[in-house]
Amino acid sequence: MYDYLIVGSGLFGSVFAHEAHKKGKKCLVIDKRAHAGGNVYCENIAGINVHWYGAHIFHTNDKGIWDYVNQFAVFNRYTNSPVANYKGELYNLPFNMNTFYQLWGVKTPEEAQAKIAEQISSLPFNQPKNLEEQALLLVGPDIYEKLIKHYTEKQWGMSAKELPAFIIKRLPVRFTFDNNYFNDKYQGIPEGGYNQIIDGLLKGIEVKLDTNFFDHRAYFEGLAKKVVYTGKIDEYYDHRFGALDYRGLRFEHQTLDQSNFQGNAVVNYTDAETPYTRIIEHKHFEFGQQDKTVITYEYPMMAGKDTEPYYPINNDQNTAVYNQYKALSQQEEKVIFGGRLAEYRYYDMHQVIASALKAVRDEFN
Ligand SMILES: Cc1cc2nc3c(=O)[nH]c(=O)nc-3n(C[C@H](O)[C@H](O)[C@H](O)COP(=O)(O)OP(=O)(O)OC[C@H]3O[C@@H](n4cnc5c(N)ncnc54)[C@H](O)[C@@H]3O)c2cc1C
Repeated sequence: MYDYLIVGSGLFGSVFAHEAHKKGKKCLVIDKRAHAGGNVYCENIAGINVHWYGAHIFHTNDKGIWDYVNQFAVFNRYTNSPVANYKGELYNLPFNMNTFYQLWGVKTPEEAQAKIAEQISSLPFNQPKNLEEQALLLVGPDIYEKLIKHYTEKQWGMSAKELPAFIIKRLPVRFTFDNNYFNDKYQGIPEGGYNQIIDGLLKGIEVKLDTNFFDHRAYFEGLAKKVVYTGKIDEYYDHRFGALDYRGLRFEHQTLDQSNFQGNAVVNYTDAETPYTRIIEHKHFEFGQQDKTVITYEYPMMAGKDTEPYYPINNDQNTAVYNQYKALSQQEEKVIFGGRLAEYRYYDMHQVIASALKAVRDEFN
């Protein structure tokens, strides 16, 4: 008999297991994948840690969370500074003085502010009815057309005119020459990849891989006093209120016989014609000097029954369905639901760790 059966070895499940284990609880972690770690898993190819489920950059403002992850790995000084490629023109992101110089040749913050104000003043509306109008009102037509519109439409698979305005509440615009994508105080990549964090969290805990909870549900439920469930909540309830929608991604990994393909870890393709949204070159996350390089093309798509769900689509319809599942989950006394799939919400890594630590406090206090 275990105290906790933990379904899913991603960050939520692993942090919960680690903390429960420290308190002397007997835990069994199962995962349907062939490896632990969920979406932060890295595959080592040609000496390069490949972020197998998409680029993962750790960032947080919370010193407690930063110290927590630093127990398990040494973080490097990587700073995310993506580059956008629009029909062969290169622009720095996030929108900052470098971007404005590249777009318009403006050299001072005053000139850049005047240019953006002029662009916005030319618009024939001032109340946004959709995402397109919202973005136009925030940054004007040039930035919208070259850096937002097509990228967003590829990501969501629909016209920006059909997307609700609230998706873009604000767009960070910086009037300094600063290409750092995040504003957070702490940022970096674990030297040697993310797996060592998961290995550290799960040290001394029994883990069974290639094991799907639903293949032997009654058996697993009978094994432990309580279940921590981090899989899809609609699947847990057998889709009785309907399936929740997710955007998916198809990753195409390539190993190239050259040392440097694009000179940056992240390049976004912001035109409509290029079918992928980004190319990731993994070695640059760790300043790699290998002879080879590994790149990943990211193709957005709808997640289907047999593909991995990545981004919840929190529109009114899905929210209404989720709320019905949530109401059921709140009545469960022996199941803790946590993580991005069970809560149907997008979590960054620092947020999911904070959420797991809160679940631990709620459980053991
Ligand atoms: C493309 C992409 C890029 C991202 N980039 C960043 C970034 O740059 N920075 C950042 O901070 N965050 C990033 N994130 C978010 C980050 O991946 C998540 O915060 C984190 O992985 C969530 O952990 P989790 O434990 O909730 O879920 P997961 O990592 O998905 O773990 C859930 C686990 O449960 C397992 N599971 C599900 N169902 C079952 C079942 N029936 N039986 C057994 N096992 C099951 C799954 O196999 C999986 O291993 C990104 C996410 C995506 C999708």
